[in-house]
Amino acid sequence: MGFFSSLFGGKTRCPLCGTEFARTESSRIRCATPGCANYDSKVVEKFYGAPAVEIKDPVEIHYVNFEGAKKRFLANRASLHIKGVHLSAEVAPTGKRIALKLNNIANQAALLDIINQQSGGGDEPPLLQR
Ligand SMILES: [Zn+2]
Repeated sequence: MGFFSSLFGGKTRCPLCGTEFARTESSRIRCATPGCANYDSKVVEKFYGAPAVEIKDPVEIHYVNFEGAKKRFLANRASLHIKGVHLSAEVAPTGKRIALKLNNIANQAALLDIINQQSGGGDEPPLLQR
């Protein structure tokens, strides 16, 4: 697997955002976290195997993984939806869809509000119906 060997080749931890998806190039750290001061879209494809895409109308997802580590995802607002106990969203940098356990999302309430607004009230019957 060429992708994985190149991934482990020049890996550096970004001192600003803590991602392992960073590398040192000409004495500069370039990392794959959108919004980080060290972000460089050119290293995204190297680490993720897909080019960086622009996330339109982004929302932040504050996630705590099973190790208790906080992670921040930048997600496409229109892509948010609930699938069972997971939140499904297209996230930066590649726009790939991921599923995150709802219970581990710190700003779950704010995201659920967005989803409810977008779905126009969800599964509840309209109030005018008698
Ligand atoms: Zn960084």
